[in-house]
Amino acid sequence: MLDVLRGNRHEPMAFVSSVLAASFSVMPIAFFRSVAAILIGLQSVAQHAPTIVIDPGHPSEVSSGATIQNGTSEVHVAWTVAQRLATLLRAHGYRVVMTKPAERTSVTNVERARIGNTAGAALVVRLHCDASKDSGYAVYHPDRQGTAQGRTGPGAEVMRTSAAAAESIHVSMAQLLAGKLKDGGVRGDSRTAVGEQQGALTGSIFSEVPVVLIEMVTLSNAHDAAFIESAAGQSLMAQAIARGVARYVPASNSPKVR
Ligand SMILES: [Zn+2]
Repeated sequence: MLDVLRGNRHEPMAFVSSVLAASFSVMPIAFFRSVAAILIGLQSVAQHAPTIVIDPGHPSEVSSGATIQNGTSEVHVAWTVAQRLATLLRAHGYRVVMTKPAERTSVTNVERARIGNTAGAALVVRLHCDASKDSGYAVYHPDRQGTAQGRTGPGAEVMRTSAAAAESIHVSMAQLLAGKLKDGGVRGDSRTAVGEQQGALTGSIFSEVPVVLIEMVTLSNAHDAAFIESAAGQSLMAQAIARGVARYVPASNSPKVR
């Protein structure tokens, strides 16, 4: 066997070449066109995968978010749900950018907005938890311009698209979280304490892309805290938000949402 191979060293390649040549000559051009179309299609999916920026709230110039409430903290809950949301969105065909590399990395709200702008985000999803005498979740979007640190914003298009994204996310949250958490609906930034003073949240004022802020639970409420501390609660929250993202900006492998 060895002798034969050595003696005819170049012949196997010549054989392969002739078989390939014969095959190509009988393959219809349509076949090559369809292969090319698939390759171009795959390339365009990769190029056009929408970018979702996930912004796990805190620590920022506003607060550390580390106050323990009912056995957990806002910064921890936001980080935990963000990890689950990132995994889901990547599986659905999105490109995901996080605004910080670790739970306790401090990033200002202006810098968080700039990360969204630089990434050319189809949507920035800001994850927070509320603290109040109330309970449940709410989805916020800039409903009017505000001014902070010498800048007035966001623009009309960002306000329009952010409102649409907030509505989409709220629909999915209302569906999946019904009976689990109180539905606080869709609200304008102007209803927040900071928004009341500035007109909009700092992260919205500096945003050049659609941006929503989700108060996922009211962490000062014992029932809400128990829900979001459980793996099942975190998973459901991430699924609800991911479906809402898909409703606003579908990706190649997004779940079909109605
Ligand atoms: Zn917060």
